[in-house]
Amino acid sequence: QVSFPRPDTTRIFTIANQKGGVGKTTTAVNIAGALATQNLNVLVIDIDPQGNASTALGIDHYSDVTSIYDVLIDDVPMRDAVAQAPDFETLVCVPATIDLAGAEIELVSLVAREQRLQRSLGLYLEERAAAGSRVDYVIIDCPPSLGLLTVNAFVSAREVLIPIQCEYYALEGLSQLLKNIQLIQKHLNPQLSVSTILLTMYDGRTNLSAQVAEDVRTHFPEQVLGTAIPRSVRISEAPSYGQTVITYDPHSSGALSYLEAAEEIANRGVQRG
Ligand code: ADP
Ligand code: MG
Repeated sequence: QVSFPRPDTTRIFTIANQKGGVGKTTTAVNIAGALATQNLNVLVIDIDPQGNASTALGIDHYSDVTSIYDVLIDDVPMRDAVAQAPDFETLVCVPATIDLAGAEIELVSLVAREQRLQRSLGLYLEERAAAGSRVDYVIIDCPPSLGLLTVNAFVSAREVLIPIQCEYYALEGLSQLLKNIQLIQKHLNPQLSVSTILLTMYDGRTNLSAQVAEDVRTHFPEQVLGTAIPRSVRISEAPSYGQTVITYDPHSSGALSYLEAAEEIANRGVQRG
């Protein structure tokens, strides 16, 4: 049993890429699960109206559940929206319900619309620290768009993790994403940095995957993790059982690679870039 170092302070990641289907949610829940197997305290915030991260962690997110919507729009304390993940003792999640689809528009007219998540998260982290159960990692799963929900995530986070799918159009859209992150850095959160890039759905049998991986490593040598996540049926099956691949099939290549990627993240500490 490996053991990852505990960070000095809470590390807050947002998982971002405005492309859909690149493995954001899969990465969010599996990195979170991997960190939780090491007894680290993890908080996942599902800020995508689809609620896929909530589903994959086995957390209820039907419409009546207290969710991130109530936190963002109605000032409900985050502690009231946090739910325990059934498979991991040290993992909690703020679920997203379908109500969140309207939040993008409702936020527009609210005071401090870009800072609402940051404020609520800050209070929750203080409460947890005061109660002696400091949160080690916060992982925010974003929708595939650059609207106010994603902006709230960028403002709350210190680090951005970008999953990149090893396919032909992988790099398309990336420069737009980086430009948007620069705007956030300039106007809303100077502390934000793209610390981590994770290659996902890597298929070792194709030249294309190898080529994309090489391109990304050349452009972002500091940020890309050594571990790439393979394309694996077990990874894609796990959510339909309300599980991460870490518990669904702990010895599969998918589970092992997410554990390895999480270990790299833990060992690198807070990165700037
Ligand atoms: P996003 O959150 O960026 O939209 P998802 O994490 O939901 O992307 O992944 C999109 C689809 O690809 C999902 O059906 C998911 O199960 C599948 N998937 C993600 N990563 C892998 C992988 N490494 N191998 C196989 N399927 C994957
Ligand atoms: Mg998603």
